[in-house]
Amino acid sequence: MKRIKNLILGAGLSGISCAYYLEDDYLILEKDSTPGGYCRTIPNREYVWDYAGHFYHFRTEKYKKLFTGLVDEKQIIRQKKNTKIFYKNKLIDYPFQTNIYELEKEEFIECLYDLYFRDTKEDYDNFLDMLYAKFGKAITEKFLRPYNEKLYAVDLHKLDKDAMGRFFPYADFKQVMESMGDKVKKTYNDEFMYLKKGTGYFIDKLFEQIDRRRVRLNTKVKKIDRKNKYVETDEGEKINYENLISSVPFNHFLEMLDETAQNERAEQLSYNKVLVLNLGFDRPSPRYKKEHWVYFPDKSLNFYRIGFYNNILMQDKLSVYVEIGFPKETKEIDEQVELEKALVGMKKVGIIDDGLKLVDKNILIMDPAYVHIEEEERIVRCMKEFEKDNIYMLGRYGRWTYNCMEDCMQLADDLVSRLKDE
Ligand SMILES: Cc1cc2nc3c(=O)[nH]c(=O)nc-3n(C[C@H](O)[C@H](O)[C@H](O)COP(=O)(O)OP(=O)(O)OC[C@H]3O[C@@H](n4cnc5c(N)ncnc54)[C@H](O)[C@@H]3O)c2cc1C
Repeated sequence: MKRIKNLILGAGLSGISCAYYLEDDYLILEKDSTPGGYCRTIPNREYVWDYAGHFYHFRTEKYKKLFTGLVDEKQIIRQKKNTKIFYKNKLIDYPFQTNIYELEKEEFIECLYDLYFRDTKEDYDNFLDMLYAKFGKAITEKFLRPYNEKLYAVDLHKLDKDAMGRFFPYADFKQVMESMGDKVKKTYNDEFMYLKKGTGYFIDKLFEQIDRRRVRLNTKVKKIDRKNKYVETDEGEKINYENLISSVPFNHFLEMLDETAQNERAEQLSYNKVLVLNLGFDRPSPRYKKEHWVYFPDKSLNFYRIGFYNNILMQDKLSVYVEIGFPKETKEIDEQVELEKALVGMKKVGIIDDGLKLVDKNILIMDPAYVHIEEEERIVRCMKEFEKDNIYMLGRYGRWTYNCMEDCMQLADDLVSRLKDE
């Protein structure tokens, strides 16, 4: 049986970054025929389509440099975020909580009143409890609750108060007041970068940096024997490892261990699925000319967010990604029915009219898409246990968390430093 020093599961951004920092002594096993995972760009003649919007924003110079160093400068599009909320047929600025002054006067006063007289607390029981306690009833019920229920497709009582970590745009009473004087608090992606060839162009460039002979595509791992330190592929091949680094979604990882307790643990993990409709039209939208993406809290619409690739790429013809959330239990998603509902909704909110013709489309399902962070400490403890057997979890889904592409690069970099030190 082959023995590999560092066996990496998954050739998404996490797996590729890990190989990049390891430089040597690794093998990647990837179930799909192409690398990139959720950061891939879908090949298409006319439109640039991704797995929903995937935009680059960096906090750390090191990873930004890696990005700008590998991609052709002419490919980079730098944008100042222009995002809106479709609320009662008006487009108001995102985030809702700092832009309530754009609402009709009565609703603005109601939001302000509830914000001022909210029941503040020291600690929160769950995500929904945090929303009411931090923002008051009106802001929560007009936007935060319905929007997040559509996105996460779960009862928000079930989510941890910090389910969105640093990605949640917090604002206290003072910040809401200051935003009216234009002193708007910065959010993590106020400025972002995109690539003319799509998100996947950077991943392809990063992939070129690693040793192609150490990557096996079309190789699905179906079983992990942690006692005897080997994995088994769906072709029945067994591969021994010294270190196992997994970016496979944690629920699937637990199932592959084939141990009763871990399989039960996998069942308990909660998450949503997102249906992504990438749609290309023959003309520009009659109403949405500049917006990069728009949030839809209205529950009569099946989508929670729509992004405008063409506005980001500064192109005319409407090209959008439509995101629709589903609970993990949903067995079959009827794509055609959802597409038809989405087109009716898009007409209702003015994205399309009878003059626009849908000329191309691509439909995909992200499963899992948003993991539901419920008992983070328990999960972290469990991952620490696996580390005693030289098994390391990597990436957004491997670590069962809420993070961005830069975080995945950093997690890989940090893990490699640890492994090299040991
Ligand atoms: C809707 C949405 C929008 C997002 N937008 C942004 C954004 O704008 N900016 C941003 O920075 N981040 C964004 N993200 C987050 C980003 O997608 C992730 O952080 C990143 O893609 C995670 O990469 P990964 O390599 O850890 O996981 P993945 O991309 O899921 O890669 C895992 C790989 O493992 C492979 N695999 C799975 N099972 C097996 C198996 N049994 N055997 C072998 N291989 C296997 C898969 O095929 C895949 O290639 C978004 C996420 C979502 C859901």
